[in-house]
Amino acid sequence: MNTIQTSSKTVDRKSVLANVRSVVIKIGTNALSDPQGRVDAALLAHFAEQVAALVARKIQVTMVSSGAIGAGMAELGVARRPKDLPMLQATAAVGQSILMNLFGAAFKPHGLHVGQMLITRGDFEDKERYLNLRNCIDSLHRSRCVPIINENDSVTVAEIRFGDNDLIAAQVTSLLDADLLVLLSVVDGLLDGRGETVPIVRDMEDAAGNVDEGRKSDRGTGGMGSKLMAAGTVKKAGKPVVIANGKRPGVIVDLLEGVATGTLIMPTGRKLSSHSRWIGLTARTKGTLVVDAGAEKALKANKSLLASGIVAAAGEFESGDAVLITTQEGLPIARGLTHYDREEVDVIRGHKTSEFAALLKMETYYDEVIHRDDLVLE
Ligand code: GLU
Repeated sequence: MNTIQTSSKTVDRKSVLANVRSVVIKIGTNALSDPQGRVDAALLAHFAEQVAALVARKIQVTMVSSGAIGAGMAELGVARRPKDLPMLQATAAVGQSILMNLFGAAFKPHGLHVGQMLITRGDFEDKERYLNLRNCIDSLHRSRCVPIINENDSVTVAEIRFGDNDLIAAQVTSLLDADLLVLLSVVDGLLDGRGETVPIVRDMEDAAGNVDEGRKSDRGTGGMGSKLMAAGTVKKAGKPVVIANGKRPGVIVDLLEGVATGTLIMPTGRKLSSHSRWIGLTARTKGTLVVDAGAEKALKANKSLLASGIVAAAGEFESGDAVLITTQEGLPIARGLTHYDREEVDVIRGHKTSEFAALLKMETYYDEVIHRDDLVLE
C-alpha cells in the first residue's frame, strides 16, 4: 500500500465544518445493528439524540439508512444474505418497516417525526422526478421531519439498482447541495498501510490506492471502495465528506464541532449549479460524441459544442439525452445534453451550422449540438 498525503497541519477541520447548515448522514447496516444482527434500538436512540442536537442548531439533517435487509434477515431467521432476488426483495420488505418503526420511536422523544423515502435509480435519472425528490425533502424539513432515505429494495432489480447506499447518499448530497456528507460505518475511516486512520484526503487517486476491498460487510453492500466512489462524486460537487465510525459515542455532534475523528475528504472547490450537478454527477449518458482538438479547446474555454468539431458518435441517444464527450483517444472531456439525436448527429457532424437547413431539411434548428449551459467538464 502507498502512503496517502495525510498532513492535517494545514487543514483546520473547524473551518471546513463550522458553517455546515445542511448535512446528509448515511448509516451502514453494521453501524446500527447489535452483534446478533438486529437493529439496535439503543444505537438508534443515540443517533436520534445527536440529530436532534443538530436540528436544534438549525442544521438540516437528511439521513440515508441501510439496514432493511439486515433487519429482515434477523426477523426471518436467515443467516446469509439471500442470493435469490425475490427473496432479497421480500427480506427488505420485512426489514424496512421494522427499521422505520424503530427510527420513529427513537426520534419521538425529541419531538421529531420521520419521513420514509424509498427511491430507485430512475428517480434520480429523470430530471423531473429528481427535482420532485428535492421538493419532498424540503417539505419534510419544514415539517419537523427527518427524511430517512433507503433504496426501494423490494421493487428494484439488478439493472436498475444503485445497490449501494453510499452512492445514494452522494446523490442526495448533490441533489440538496448539502454542505457535508457523513458516511458512518464500523471502521474509523480510511486506513493507511499501518492500519492508522488517515485524517485528511485531498487527492482521490492517492486514496484509491489504499482501499482494502476485502473488508466488506456480509449484510450490507458497501465497503471502502464504494465510500471513496461516493466521496469522489461529492468532492466534484465542491463539498467535503467525512468517513467515520458510527459506533463511536457522540460521533456526529463531535464531527460538526471540528473534533478530529474519521477521515475528512476535502472538496475540489468548484461550485456547480443544480443543473450542472445533475448533468455531471447524476444523469446516465446514453451515448458518446468524439471530438477533434479544436472542439476540445473550445469546450475547455466554456464554449458550446458545434457539429463541425464532432468526428464520430456512438450509442442510441435522443434529443435531450445526456452524452459523454471524449477525445479521439477516448479520454473523457465533458458531459452534456444534446439537442440532436444520434441519426441527426451522424448527418451534421463535421459540417458548418450554415449547412444544417439543407442537411436536416429543417427550417429552424439549433446552432450548437450542445449548448454551453448544458455542458459540464469532467
Ligand atoms: N438498501 C440496503 C438495505 O437497506 C443496504 C444497501 C447498502 O448496504 O448500501 O439493507
